[in-house]
This record gives sequence, structure tokens and C-alpha cells, in this order.
Amino acid sequence: MRYISTRGQAPALSFEEVVLTGMASDGGLYVPETVPQLSHETLADMAGCSYAEIAFRVMQPYVGGEIDDDTFREIVRDAYATFSHDAVVPLNQLDANHFLLELFHGPTLAFKDVALQLLGRLLDHFLEKRGERAVIMGATSGDTGSAAIEGCRHCDNLDIFILHPHQRVSEVQRRQMTTVLADNVFNVAIEGNFDDAQAMVKASFADQGFLNGTRLVAVNSINWARIMAQIVYYVASAVALGAPHRKVSFCVPSANFGNVFAGYMAHRMGLPVERFVIATNANDILHRTLADNDFSKKELVATLAPSMDIVVSSNFERLLFEAYQRDGAAVAELLERFQDEPSALAEAPLARLRERFASHSIDDATILEVIREAHHRTQEILDPHTATGYRAAERERGDASVPMITLATAHPAKFADAVVKAGFPGVPLPPHMDDLLEREERYSVLPAELAAVQRFVADNRR
Ligand SMILES: *Cc1c(COP(=O)(O)O)cnc(C)c1O
Repeated sequence: MRYISTRGQAPALSFEEVVLTGMASDGGLYVPETVPQLSHETLADMAGCSYAEIAFRVMQPYVGGEIDDDTFREIVRDAYATFSHDAVVPLNQLDANHFLLELFHGPTLAFKDVALQLLGRLLDHFLEKRGERAVIMGATSGDTGSAAIEGCRHCDNLDIFILHPHQRVSEVQRRQMTTVLADNVFNVAIEGNFDDAQAMVKASFADQGFLNGTRLVAVNSINWARIMAQIVYYVASAVALGAPHRKVSFCVPSANFGNVFAGYMAHRMGLPVERFVIATNANDILHRTLADNDFSKKELVATLAPSMDIVVSSNFERLLFEAYQRDGAAVAELLERFQDEPSALAEAPLARLRERFASHSIDDATILEVIREAHHRTQEILDPHTATGYRAAERERGDASVPMITLATAHPAKFADAVVKAGFPGVPLPPHMDDLLEREERYSVLPAELAAVQRFVADNRR
């Protein structure tokens, strides 16, 4: 399989190169040159298979023979053995045709584990094969750092440095990162805010001289392998509810658009999907674009669903590439204009998107109301991100014969603040984490100075 850029100018790459690369040199994102097809028969044959087996079958064509089948099967099995539920991503039936797809049974209790458990192992495999080592650097406001650390802690060829703003992440979020005591994991508390931390990571990618030639890798949501890993649970959940004989719809709490784009890929591969419902919080660029063709930036709002607090949805570019029928020049022009001024999509591409996607923006007051109401009706305590999805799904319940699957992107214990605000006493951490507050921590505090951070990384990488 070859991968091409959404802006049409960067060279095509192999799967291995795409996993190690991140953003394309023309500023675009990599997508597969062709979409592998899952036939009716192939989908029907998945009924009753384990999650790892479905994962192998769905992803194998994207790997394109660059990892032999036995090795890839083992990598996949290993990645999903870290989940605490035998089904990996169980479905939970809320009522006659509304289901929650619980994506939060991984090591850090949020759906990003699904992708990062695989990505760490893929990186390690390719680096081992090349006889290379690499450094991962990332900044986190609390949530994604821990998923990246858990994904890399067992990777011999990787050292991971995660910067978080000192004393500005919650205790649970900090401890999810700092209690991982592996030799290749380095937590750095920056005496500054998240933007300072992120700026230093960006500057380090722009000028990598301080690493004397060691490869610097990003594991952010634009990495193709993360999308690829997320395609699997759309297929697995639809098959569990009767695909390919029966259509389903999905509702996806969305921010950077990586999650719902993976669903769209599953559909393009042949999965019968009636509709995708995009749920956003008050940071609603996706909803404004789809509903009003208002493709513009708006100031960031801090909400009760902080993992969805974004200004720009980076992976939306991948869907635009399809909506513009793979016209890289048109995508490049649209996105370059969008950087500087409010923009709008052309009519035909927008109409194509509206055929398959609906959207709703859910504000904080509604999130609290939904947490209470969903508990009253179903006994489930939703996390605030999932709550946006629950409400958006309710608004879009069309044909009662089509099951609606809402993606539960985080465990409520991870965002207990919102749950407490909704009037509940709190949510206990799951059993495998209940000693988190007693575990030993390790992290270094550094000033918000680029030179100090880069020296720390250069001195500590192995
Ligand atoms: C990252 C995240 C999201 C948003 O997913 P995208 O792929 O960025 O659209 C939603 N909920 C939770 C809990 C997350 O961590």
C-alpha cells in the first residue's frame, strides 16, 4: 500500500515510512492511495471472531505486506491484551436501539489507548528492524500524554518525553503519567502553561539539531496508524449488531476528527453505515461547518469536556480530501485561506458531506443535564465527552430499525469533576487502578526554557 498527501505535492510513502513520519512535507496528511474493500462475505465471516482477529483482518491490507502476517498478528494481540475487558470494546445496550460502544477499558481509561497501544508497538517493530532508536516528544494538558506513555513503556527502541504544565493538571491525570516508572519514560513538569510546553515541543521538531541525528517522532492524532487502529472498532461493533446484513449509525464525540474519520474509512471499505452523527462541545467548528458552511476559527472555550477543546480539527482535512474528490490543489488552497480568514466549502463537496454526516454542538449546561438524565433512564454514569454524544444521538434517532451506536470515549472516573458537578458523589477508579494515589511517582520540574528542556532530553535519552 502506498500513502499520498491530501495536498498532492509530497512524495508517496510506504506504510513503514508513514508510521515514522507524521505530517507530509507539503503540510498535508497522508491517506492510503486506494481503499481496501471488505466484501459482504468477509464481513459476515467476522461474526464471532475475537477483537484481535477482526483487527488483524481489517488492518492487514493497510500494512501491505510490510510486516509478515504472523508478526503483525502477534503485535495486534499484544496491544489489545492490555485492555481489562475480554471483549476489548464491549457494547452496552441502553434501550431498544441505542448502544454505547465502551472504548475506555484500556490502561488510561480513554479511547486513545486503542490507537496508541498499537502505534507504540508498530514504531518499536520498525525501529528494531532498522537498527535505529527514536525519541518521542509531546506536550499534554493532561489526557493524551498518559495514553502515549502507556503505549510506549515497553518499547526498547523508544524514549518518550512528555511535558505537562507544572501543577496545572489534575492529580489523577498527573499520576497516570508519573507513576509509570519505566526506564524509557520521562515526565517533565514545565514551570509554565500548556501553550509554553507545546511551543517547546514544536520548536524541537522544527530544529532537531539538539538530538545529533536521532529521529524525533510525533504520536499525535495525525499519524495514519492511529486512524487505522480506530477503523477496527467500527467494524467490530457493527458486525456484533448484525452487519453486513443490517445497517447501523454511529454518533461520535469529536474534536480533531480522527475518531469519526476512522468510521468514515470503515464505511468506505464497505461497512453499511446509515449515518455518522458528529457531537461537539462549545468548540464547534465541525458543527458550524456542516450546518452553516462557516469554516472559521473561533476563540477556544474551556468546557466540561476538555479533551474536545480545540480550535481547528486537524483530521478534518482528510475528509475534505475525499469531499473534494481527491483534488489536492483545491484542498491546499482551501486550508491555506482558512489559516488567515473565515472560509467556506464549495457547494458540491459540502453537499457530499451532508449526505452522510449530521452534527450537533452541546454546551456545558446540557452536558450536566444529560449526565443526570441518562443516569435516571439507564443507570449509567456517562463521562462528559460521551454525554455530548448521547444527546446528539437522541436528536438524530431516525429509523428505529437502524441501531444507533454512541462511542463512549472515556470512563467517567477520569472526568469525575463534571460528574460531581452533575450532582453525583463521584466515581471510583476501576479495580486495577484503585491504588493510583499511593503509587510512587517520578518526574522532573524544569523552567519553561527551550534550552533547558532540550538539554534534559539530549542528556537522558538512552
Ligand atoms: C481525544 C478525545 C476525543 C476527541 O477525539 P478526536 O479523534 O480528536 O475527534 C473525545 N473524547 C475523549 C475522551 C478524548 O480523549
